[in-house]
Amino acid sequence: MFAAAAAMADAPMVAESDPQAAALGYKADSSKVDNGKFPKHAADQHCGNCALFQGKASDASGGCPLFAGKSVSAKGWCSAYNKKA
Ligand code: SF4
Repeated sequence: MFAAAAAMADAPMVAESDPQAAALGYKADSSKVDNGKFPKHAADQHCGNCALFQGKASDASGGCPLFAGKSVSAKGWCSAYNKKA
């Protein structure tokens, strides 16, 4: 089993129930975000096109400095979203 090495390269996904995720309103699926609660959320916003996303545009998940040691879904979203320039 080489799962440990794989886990190092690919950090575990952040859970929506994680306290930091809950505080930021993170959803693994941007389309599930409550627009009533987060009026600035738009359908075309997701981690994959957020300035803070550390993965490549083609990656399904990647790091985010707001969730140290975890990965966020490229399709996810949180209230700290900042459009990539
Ligand atoms: Fe996703 Fe950006 Fe929020 Fe990080 S800051 S979780 S990349 S939307």
